[in-house]
Amino acid sequence: MKILANDDVKFEEFCGRLSEAIENDGCDSETLLLSDYILRTHYPEYDTEGTIEYFQSKGGYCDCEVLFNVCQYPK
Ligand SMILES: [Zn+2]
Repeated sequence: MKILANDDVKFEEFCGRLSEAIENDGCDSETLLLSDYILRTHYPEYDTEGTIEYFQSKGGYCDCEVLFNVCQYPK
């Protein structure tokens, strides 16, 4: 299975969903729970665990860090 990397056609859509989820639920500053949930719910064709590891390798250790460091949304 492939990972949802930042050059993937679905990546921007994922970032929009993550941004919305953080606005609604907040980031717990510790986990990638929201990213994990969105990946499993909306992107079952991708490898969730591999994608989470990829996010961490890019400096995303909590959901808002994924937004800032991987999606590169402004802080
Ligand atoms: Zn955070």
